[in-house]
This record gives sequence, structure tokens and C-alpha cells, in this order.
Amino acid sequence: MSIKEMELETKLAHGCHTPDSETRSLTSPIYQTATYGAVSQENFEDLCYNWGHVYARESNPTTDELARTLALIEGCETGVVTSSGMGAVTSMFFSQVKSGDHIICANGMFSHTTLFVKECLMNFGVEADFVDATDYKNIEKCLKPNTKIVYVESPLNPSLRLVDIEKIAKLKEKQDFIFVVDSTFAPNPIQYPTKLGADLVVHSLTKFLNGHGDAIGGAVLGKRELIHKIKWPSMPCFTGACLAPMTAWLILRGIRTLDMRVERHCKNALAIAEFLENHPLVEKVNYPGLKSSPDYELCQKQMNGMGGGMLSFTLKKTGTDEETVAMTKRFINKVKLITIATSLGEGHTLISLYDGGLVRIAVGLEKDSDLIEDLRNALNEMNEGER
Ligand SMILES: *Cc1c(COP(=O)(O)O)cnc(C)c1O
Repeated sequence: MSIKEMELETKLAHGCHTPDSETRSLTSPIYQTATYGAVSQENFEDLCYNWGHVYARESNPTTDELARTLALIEGCETGVVTSSGMGAVTSMFFSQVKSGDHIICANGMFSHTTLFVKECLMNFGVEADFVDATDYKNIEKCLKPNTKIVYVESPLNPSLRLVDIEKIAKLKEKQDFIFVVDSTFAPNPIQYPTKLGADLVVHSLTKFLNGHGDAIGGAVLGKRELIHKIKWPSMPCFTGACLAPMTAWLILRGIRTLDMRVERHCKNALAIAEFLENHPLVEKVNYPGLKSSPDYELCQKQMNGMGGGMLSFTLKKTGTDEETVAMTKRFINKVKLITIATSLGEGHTLISLYDGGLVRIAVGLEKDSDLIEDLRNALNEMNEGER
């Protein structure tokens, strides 16, 4: 049986590394090099034309191993890794669209992706519509003959609403487009977008996949013909968004424990969501794993019943909107174990404030009861004023 047919746990534990016969090193070496020597001019030309290693901005054995490992766990054809999640987003778009093409994007995506489309792609003559993708019919209504890409995230940020990936993929039966899902908030084993019909999956490896909060990276995974367009004429090469071998190695190491970490993130997030939902000072909790969520059914189907490690909530209004936001800031200033920071998918639990007093929590790997105690104390103390 090949590793491709084995379960996720085994794929993660062994990865794609084959020990070399000389050292039999069980872990992968780091090919920390900028260039590669050829044995002859003919050999050099062969390397250039046949995907050989020529220069490290274009390819590197360590970064290639990471791309193969990610494709192995997603169960898709192939992948490419980049220096950041944004490097993956920009390399993907630049390689697949041209001036005059139309793209459809979901409202409420990662802010820098939205800004890239609005401030950069649209300036280059790409037409873009942003729609509420929580109802796939809104995407259907926007499809045009020149629609090249439908780009969504699920769960969305910071609403934590879900997009029905399978339903959008079905729209391709009527009209062809490239369907791209940013699955950063729901890594394997929560969600497998290519199994649900996505052509390409985008990940910020910085988040759950590396999981240790110590490296920045990105990936695009999926169909070989589309990935080849990103790799050749080598988009990360042109954008300069190539991943460093040392970083690739750190992410390869981080990935080994992905399944165990993700399970804990989800368990903790559900416990916190349930605590907040039952707290008298909390107005509304957004978490797809809660029975009260409008996306609970879809979460069972699309996210393997795992709600993910992200949640958001608002506090009960006191006075004006400004006063409620001011109280929310006091609450955030009272948490101690939880850190005020952006990012997600690492050991520390992180908290951040969004428009309208919406609080987002990126749940970490601490003990759930310690996190709940921190939140309970902050909720109790937020109206006491500064100590
Ligand atoms: C963080 C993030 C990105 C960008 O990734 P970087 O590694 O920070 O460049 C893209 N999409 C989503 C959903 C993210 O959370």
C-alpha cells in the first residue's frame, strides 16, 4: 500500500521524505543553497527545460518536499509553496487572470486579499464583484461569460459564517470557472476543499499548518495544470514570493502534529463558544460548531463536524454603540492569559477587536478551563474601571 492510500495520521508522521542511502537520515536535510551546479552545459540546459533545480528562487528540494507533503495530506494532485499566504494569493491570481477577465470574490475575506483585489488587480483591468457568498445563489447571479475565477474563504473572517463549497463547485456544470478556496481557517482534517470540488486551495501556512507561530509561509494546492501555470513561468519566481528552505523545514516539522493540534483547537473553541453563549453579558457568539449557528448543519457535512479554532462574539449593548465598543475594549484589556494579537492557529490564544465591537478569538492549545477562567474574570472585571 502506498502512503497516498494511508490515513492522515500516517501521512503526517512519515511525510514524503525518502532517506538517502548514504546517511539514511530519517528527517529531511535542509538544502540551504541559492544555486545548483550542473555537470555540463548540456546538463544545465536539460535542468532548465525539464524542471530541474537551477536556482533557488525557482525550486529547492526542501520547499518541494513541503509542497508534496501538503498535496499528500489534502489528497490532491500537486502544490506550490510560497514565502507567505499573501505570496500564494498574489501568485495564484497573477498566473490565472489577465486584463478583461472577471472574478467573483466573497465579502468578508482576509482583509489583505480583499485589498489586493481592489487596489491592485482591479487597477490592472481585472473586473471584480464582491458578493455575500454564504448564499451560493449570489455567486450564480454574478457569473458572466468572462468570469475566470470564483474565490471564497470558509469560514469567513471575522463573521465565522460558512460558504457551501460543494454547491458553488456544482455551478461549474453550467459554466466553467476556476474555483479557489482559501482554507486557512479550516485546515485538514477539518476541511478538504478539493474533495468538495474546489480546483485550487490556498493556505497561509503561517497559521494552523505550521502551528507554532514561528514561521511565515503559504501554499496553493490542487489540479496539476493550474499549479503548473503558477510554477511555470514560475510565478513565485517572478513575484519573488519563494519560500526559504529553513522556513520550509520548520513548517514540515510543525505539520507532523497537525491532526492532534487541530483537534485540541476545535475542542477548546467549542468549550469557549458554549461558555460565552451562556454568559449573561454576551450578546451573540459566532461559531459554526454551535447548535445555534445558522451553519451548524453545513459544518457537520463540510467540516467533518469540527467547528474550527476561530470564534467571534459581541457583548450585550450598554448605552450607545460607542459606549458598547468602549466597554468591549475594557474587556479586552482585562484578559491576562489570552494575548491581544493578530494571527491564529498557534499555541497561544489570541484576541482582536473588529468593527462594531466584534471580538475575535483565535483559540490556542492551552487547557480550556484556564482560558474560560481568564474570559470569566475579564467579563466580571470590565465594568470595574482601571485598577
Ligand atoms: C493570514 C491569512 C492570509 C495571509 O497569510 P500570510 O501568511 O499572513 O501572508 C490569507 N488568508 C487568510 C484567511 C489568512 O488568515
